[in-house]
Amino acid sequence: MSNATAVKQETAVPGKVPMDELVALCKRRGFIFQASEIYDGINGFWDYGPLGTALKNNLRDRWWQDMVIAPPIGPDGRPVQIVGVDSAIIQNPRAWEASGHVDTFSDPMVDCKKTKLRYRQDHLVAVIDERNNQIFAFYEGSLEDTPVLKKLKKMAGTDELSKLKTAPFTEIDVSAYTNVIGPDSDEKGTLTEPRQFNLMFESHAGPIKDEKNKVYLRPETAQGIFLNYKNIVDNMRVRVPFGIAQIGKAFRNEVTPRNFIFRSREFEQMEMEWFCHPDEAQKWRDFWVEARMDWWKSVGVSGDHLQLRDHDKDELSHYAKDGVGTVDIEYKFPFTWPGFGELEGIAHRCDYDLKQHEKHSGKKLEYFDDITKERYIPHVIEPASGLTRGVMTLLAEAYTPDETRPSKMFMKFKPSMAPIKAAILPLTNKDGLPDIAEKLYMAVRGKFMTQLDTKGNIGKRYARNDEIGTPFCITVDNDTLNDQTVTIRDRDTMTQERVALDKVAEYVSKAIED
Ligand code: ATP
Repeated sequence: MSNATAVKQETAVPGKVPMDELVALCKRRGFIFQASEIYDGINGFWDYGPLGTALKNNLRDRWWQDMVIAPPIGPDGRPVQIVGVDSAIIQNPRAWEASGHVDTFSDPMVDCKKTKLRYRQDHLVAVIDERNNQIFAFYEGSLEDTPVLKKLKKMAGTDELSKLKTAPFTEIDVSAYTNVIGPDSDEKGTLTEPRQFNLMFESHAGPIKDEKNKVYLRPETAQGIFLNYKNIVDNMRVRVPFGIAQIGKAFRNEVTPRNFIFRSREFEQMEMEWFCHPDEAQKWRDFWVEARMDWWKSVGVSGDHLQLRDHDKDELSHYAKDGVGTVDIEYKFPFTWPGFGELEGIAHRCDYDLKQHEKHSGKKLEYFDDITKERYIPHVIEPASGLTRGVMTLLAEAYTPDETRPSKMFMKFKPSMAPIKAAILPLTNKDGLPDIAEKLYMAVRGKFMTQLDTKGNIGKRYARNDEIGTPFCITVDNDTLNDQTVTIRDRDTMTQERVALDKVAEYVSKAIED
């Protein structure tokens, strides 16, 4: 059991991003919108606006670049070998029986009989009020919220968390549920015992909606890779060790989608299955943990906000029980602060998936090493990350308060990740400045994502570009007429430099390179 004081004190830590402001900014500036907003939205689904799409594509393309086009240099000094696939979202349902998803891909849920709301048991925290013989269940991270503290004040006689014990709700025995007050209830004993709830979305293929035609939307991109393993080995001249990478949508009917795009029902993953000799699993697991941590830093995530966490034996997935262990790369998200939440998992899936598919499909999935003449089922190391959770990370990481600016903040994206690299701003609408700006825009627009922004006062245009994280604002002013130079304003330092018109493309291209 832990004491909850620390949670309360940490609320004012500098660097913690105000989530409500970030979400509002994402809407106002066209990063992310609620899906079906004009119909009051749909819980757990999000649409990416023009800037969010650009940001997501930048992160996605960079992963593909660094995994498939120019994969990392391996321990032997040579680039490792990785090929890409793009598999169907709907596969033969037998594939999901083989993978274990039909039977075991579920979360423990508790229902509130009074409010009819449903909660994920492992996401709840218990606040134990021994004096009044009652236990409150709240969502992790909500202990600092005003309504939660008000409820504690009213029902426990104190909102000082230091006077109450906390524990993961999973540690509360069901026999004590009669004393439990649910997150949205003010009565004891309304929560049911935990029940397993399968997370796969179901549909039907073809015109008849019966059991025989039932199909599932994939809950992970990984299985599409295992299903293509044989075709790749037979046709692509790959040799173990090698990897197969895939980026795409995944769907999970999360019971409590929350924290903006962190946990949604439709999301995107970037996964790579690395097939290696069983004896080399440890070596490759360690290699990929380091490579992936370096990668997140390379896209602008500060090492201070990242940590590695080894899975405990009891949280290992069924496929990883006999392996060298799973390591998560965790990020200090605004809603987990000062704690961390999963951004990517690097799991040793052993030979579980290939063996299961071999058993269920009846097709041989062994690998034959024609040099050593050894025949075996490779082991798999899987770096699995969320693309959309990565976007959440980049947004939180970029949000930088700055009281000296009209916008009071700016988005400090690494230039290579920024949705818009440069904005071209004629200072006024007179003296032919818009024409020069237009000409400059036409000269650079194919080289990097550029916006020509002609309307409004210049301060407002700078503020807007700070809010969307444009690294460079290029201003055409009256001096341009005389000396053919423009000012380039640096987003982070706000310093301005004069650069010749015909050197702008080179200047910006160089500055946005990694
Ligand atoms: P969690 O414990 O957060 O539910 P998980 O361990 O089940 O995640 P994996 O199955 O390992 O996640 O999926 C790999 C990655 O996919 C995660 O690290 C995360 O970045 C992303 N991911 C998983 N579920 C979601 C979701 N519901 N919304 C957004 N991203 C997700």
